[in-house]
Amino acid sequence: MTINPQHTAPQLSPELIAQFTAIVGDKYALTLADDVAPYVTEERNLFQGRSPLVLRPGSTAEVAAICKLATTHNIAIVPQGGNTGLVGGQTPHHGEVVISLRRMDKVRDIDTQSNTMTVEAGLVLQTAQQRAADVDRLFPLSLGAEGSCTIGGNLSTNAGGTAALAYGVAREMALGLEVVLPDGRILNALSKLKKDNTGYDLRDLFIGAEGTLGIITAATLKLFPRPRAVETAFVGLQSVADALRLLQIAQGEAAGSLTSFELLAEICIDFCVKHGTDIRDPLGERHPWYVLFEVSSAREDALATLESILERGLDDGVIADATIAANGAQRAAFWKLREVISPAQKPEGGSIKHDVSVPIAAVPDFIAEANAAVVKLIPGSRPVPFGHLGDGNIHYNVSQPIGGDSAAFLARWHEVNAVVFEIVMRMGGSISAEHGIGVMKRDELPGVKDKVAIDLMRGIKAMIDPLGIMNPGKVL
Ligand code: FAD
Ligand code: ZN
Repeated sequence: MTINPQHTAPQLSPELIAQFTAIVGDKYALTLADDVAPYVTEERNLFQGRSPLVLRPGSTAEVAAICKLATTHNIAIVPQGGNTGLVGGQTPHHGEVVISLRRMDKVRDIDTQSNTMTVEAGLVLQTAQQRAADVDRLFPLSLGAEGSCTIGGNLSTNAGGTAALAYGVAREMALGLEVVLPDGRILNALSKLKKDNTGYDLRDLFIGAEGTLGIITAATLKLFPRPRAVETAFVGLQSVADALRLLQIAQGEAAGSLTSFELLAEICIDFCVKHGTDIRDPLGERHPWYVLFEVSSAREDALATLESILERGLDDGVIADATIAANGAQRAAFWKLREVISPAQKPEGGSIKHDVSVPIAAVPDFIAEANAAVVKLIPGSRPVPFGHLGDGNIHYNVSQPIGGDSAAFLARWHEVNAVVFEIVMRMGGSISAEHGIGVMKRDELPGVKDKVAIDLMRGIKAMIDPLGIMNPGKVL
């Protein structure tokens, strides 16, 4: 992938490296290739960056000093959290200085009366969930990378995940932010307020900005009551249209307590059973489509709700077969199946991925049209659609033909994207539902986004980051 730098940073002199190092201390300024390596590569090896210096600040004041120095010397910087992003946003593609927030992982405040938790940006999502559970609250954001992604990364990418159906995306879980601007000023907007109509919403500018406007150093997050009962079902169906009908039934019966509704194509089960460890098909027979859904309740009535959804689904001829998780272990097994779909695709060769959304009602047509178009373009290619049907968000992956050449298949990444994105845009959808733009989709953005919106985005970027040092070449 060719990446345009859009910022011609001067080389870092040894004197400047020493000045940056003095801010964080020797131990937390990495320059040796082996130390730097984990910050310039990512898990899939899709992007390889390089950096002369990785800084690991321990406080907001240190982040501010780093940014001030970077502005003084026109040095480009890349904020990084857990390095789990999927669009190359956290990678220093042109030798930028990496600012890793991972050391900043304190919980500053938990307020169970206001139902808020104020945490530093480097706190790992799973730890945030655990800290909320410790005080009998729920922090609902949940995604496959939760063991290593950070709150700062989650907010900067406006992460979605499996609980967005009931609780919204990361943006909806944040009340306030603390952000260091490129010039080193600190925006203190760590508000606990739900209602605050005092002008432009600056918080929402930084959420989803993918580190192009500033460095999030802390956030005040919403906490929710912890559900007393969670019930999970795994359902086999004939078609995506039936899955959509089941979603409507479930929303009618469960309303806000329907907390997840995930769709899986049969090929996902094939791959998971074949390549996953300890993965079992939860149903006796194969079905063309599957739904994994969950009902959570503050009372003990989740099971009754789940059963009534399944009953109506069976009565209406929407469900072919279904099973309910009998205990926590079975529930975890259902979710493990959902989570290993991506890794289970690896042994099948190259996979061209899309993270798209369309209006929920358009999902059946989208999958049918995309399947036909992709197979027409590359005969033998195998669509592997799955994802958050309840949000209209499909991870539309395409595995290479059996026995084909992986490199030749992956060389057609943009061609396949173009075919899929054309259908998405025609249906009023988005080419990035939850992973962001980064560098991966940057060149596609002007073609799909409203021209005025792009103008405004550029204007905001120029106003907050006039030198263009903050994560250059990403998003815009
Ligand atoms: P990083 O990867 O380090 O950074 C991501 C972006 O945010 C970069 O542009 C970076 O510059 C910027 N950034 C990071 N920290 C800061 C900060 N403090 N201030 C300013 N900018 C910052 N995503 C979903 O939305 N839903 C999913 O279901 C989902 N599932 C995933 C499953 C797996 C197995 C993997 C590997 C990834 C998945 N992702 C998913 C993508 C990824 O986990 C999310 O984008 C996550 O929010 C990134 O967090 P991070 O801390 O790893 O950020
Ligand atoms: Zn997802």
